Parts: sequence; C-alpha cells; structure tokens
Amino acid sequence: MDLRESADDRAFRAEVREFLDGALGGEFATVRGRGGPGDEGALFAERQAWERHLAAHGWTCVGWPKEHGGRGLSLRQQVVYHEEYARARAPGRLGIVGEGLLGPTLIAFGTPEQQARFLPGIVAGEELWCQGYSEPGAGSDLAGIATRAERDGDEWVVTGQKVWTSLAHWAQWCFVLARTSPVGSDGKRHRGISYLLVPMDQPGVEIRPIVQMTGDSEFNEVFFDGARTGAANVVGEVGGGWAVAMGTLAFERGASTLGQQLNFRNELAAIVDVARARGVASDPTVRQRLARAHVGLEIMRLNALRIPDSPVSKLYWATVHRSLGELAVDVLGPAALVAGPETDALLRLFLFSRADTIYGGSNQVQRNIIGERALGLPK
Ligand SMILES: Cc1cc2nc3c(=O)[nH]c(=O)nc-3n(C[C@H](O)[C@H](O)[C@H](O)COP(=O)(O)OP(=O)(O)OC[C@H]3O[C@@H](n4cnc5c(N)ncnc54)[C@H](O)[C@@H]3O)c2cc1C
Repeated sequence: MDLRESADDRAFRAEVREFLDGALGGEFATVRGRGGPGDEGALFAERQAWERHLAAHGWTCVGWPKEHGGRGLSLRQQVVYHEEYARARAPGRLGIVGEGLLGPTLIAFGTPEQQARFLPGIVAGEELWCQGYSEPGAGSDLAGIATRAERDGDEWVVTGQKVWTSLAHWAQWCFVLARTSPVGSDGKRHRGISYLLVPMDQPGVEIRPIVQMTGDSEFNEVFFDGARTGAANVVGEVGGGWAVAMGTLAFERGASTLGQQLNFRNELAAIVDVARARGVASDPTVRQRLARAHVGLEIMRLNALRIPDSPVSKLYWATVHRSLGELAVDVLGPAALVAGPETDALLRLFLFSRADTIYGGSNQVQRNIIGERALGLPK
C-alpha cells in the first residue's frame, strides 16, 4: 500500500483547508480550539451553529455513503479531512455520537424507515445522540445490564439506570440497551437484549450530571422510569440487540475516533513549546520521550490508513495518548501542581487521557479481544 500523498489528496487537502480557514477566520473564530474531550462544556450554542454550518457545506458525516447523506469520502480522504480539521483547530464536534456510532449502525442494521427518520437529522447537525450502554453493574461485562423494556401496545416502556452517558444532557435521543426477555435456562445472557432508540425529552427520563476532576461534566447518570418509545424504534431483532450493540462498538473502536486522534499532534506541539520554554527540551530523557511520542503519533496515523478497524488500533491510540498526558505533566514539572491559564490545557490532557484506556473497551478488554479473536488464544 502506497501511503504517500497523491496529487488528488493534495488538491482535496487544499479544498478542506480553504473551507475551514475561511469559516474559522471569520464568523466562527470564537469556537476555534474549543470543545472536545476535557472542554466539552464550552460554547454549546456557538458550536451548534458550527455543526449546522458544516452540514450546510456538506462537511458532516464525510465517511458515510452518499445515498445516506454523507460525502462518501475514501479512508485516505477522511484522514486528510480530519488532519486539516485538527490543524485548523476546528471545534470539538457536538454530533460525534450520532455521526460516528448511531448513524453507521443504522446504515448497517437499521430498516429503510429508521434510516429515513434518523439519518437526515444527524447529517444536518440537528439531532444529537447519546449511548446508553453502561450501568452501575455492567461496564466491561455489558451483558449484565439490568435495564428492561416491556411492550405496552404500540410502545416500549423502559426502566433502569445508565451511567457515564456522555453528552446525554444535550442529546435528543439515546440508543439504549435493554433486556426485553429474561435470561433463559441456558444462561446465555447475550440473548434477550434489544437495541432501542429512546427520545430523551420526556417525563420518564432524568439526567444527572457527573462532575469530573477537570470541573467539566460531560457525562451523566441517566434514569429511565417508565420512559416510552415507539414499537418501531428497535434496531435489529427484538431480543437480538447484542449483534447490533457489538456493531456499534466496532465503529466506536474504529474509524470514528480518527478526528480525535489527529488532534493529538496539536497536543504534542504544545508539549514541545512548554519543554522549550522551561529549558528541558534538550534534556536527553525528555528528548527521547518527545521523539517517542512523535513516532507513536506517526504510527497511529499510518495504522489509521492501513487498518482502521483493527482491534489493535483502539488499544494503540489510547495507550499512546495516555503516555502523551504523562509526558505533558512531566514536562510541566512542579508547575503541574497548580492549575492556571498556562497549565490548564495540558492538565486537562493528562486527566482526560486517563479515560481513553477505559471507555469504548478498556485496555484489558481490548487485549482479551486481540488474544481470543485475532490470535485464537484460549479464553
Ligand atoms: C470518558 C468516558 C466516557 C464514557 N461514555 C460512555 C457513554 O457515553 N455511554 C456508555 O454506555 N458508557 C460510557 N462510558 C463507560 C465505559 O464504557 C465503561 O467505563 C467501560 O466499559 C468500563 O466499564 P466499567 O467502568 O464498569 O469498569 P469495569 O468493567 O468494572 O472494569 C474495571 C477494571 O477491570 C478490568 N476488567 C473488567 N473485565 C475484565 C476482563 N474480562 N479481563 C480483564 N480485565 C477486566 C477493566 O479493564 C478495568 O480495569 C464512558 C467511560 C468514560 C471513562
């Protein structure tokens, strides 16, 4: 595979750059560099306007097929797009869960009616989604969910508690894993789980923010107490939601994080600046770690081009990013003990990157998957 940039790639890069620089140099200058992990609470209204602006110019859902409202970009072009997005320091995307997780899931598993109802709202940047998987007693062991849904006429009635639900406070919809039949005598817990699309703005849904060390509260506890959704809002078979849920997880661990990954280079650049300013850039140990971080990010980029959906990629980028956070505080030195305008961004990087090796499948769980499914090792 030739990983060098072609003339077409360069022309495409220029097109993306022109669009982003034009928008972020003018009307949207205030959102530049805002939002994203660790700063998710920033400038909601302005970033929503940005979502709509991207949509109006065809720059949302760039990897989706054209027939579903996407731009149909190749993987190479998606990488270029996200590189340029990061270079321009364009804002963290509000629609990331719908665009990266639910949309591709509906394209793969949804009915034509579900696709027609839900995909356009995601493409337009009008409907935001959250992911209702984890519960207090079910994280890595996702089949242990206790939330249940019961049929009542033309509706499902959902009761249970979800936790760590990112961006639920902004979302109009949640894709919820719920048990629609009890575990049978065969003990197979993966059966009897359904994948429901549930509207958030209703009396049976309560959202309680979880405040993190960073001061942000980008995730929440979500309580469903008799929440309702239409009978047609089940993706896949009733009781067969596990396969759909795993499909979503594959998207979560794969190309959906490309944009985020390519942003890490900006973070490394900021770390290098601090290292220079503090006079530690020439320290042999720091130099070596900076070089290793640079190489790590380059490998991540090449892996994204080569094998975006490999089980290795989530493990790799999450680990590289967590090391980058550790490097940031080591370079800051004692200054890392005090929060302030000069240290905030790197401290947020350090704190938030701890989460990367947990969400979407912890490092240990990813290693199990690689061991069992890729290498064929025994459980
Ligand atoms: C920033 C962030 C955002 C999140 N957003 C969402 C969201 O939007 N929606 C949502 O549903 N969830 C979300 N989550 C939850 C996330 O999916 C879970 O935290 C994750 O699946 C781990 O589950 P847990 O926290 O219950 O930990 P546990 O599963 O209890 O794991 C605890 C420890 O045990 C290890 N472990 C568990 N099982 C095994 C095993 N079989 N083999 C080896 N080690 C094991 C884990 O690696 C971990 O170190 C988010 C989490 C974070 C940190």
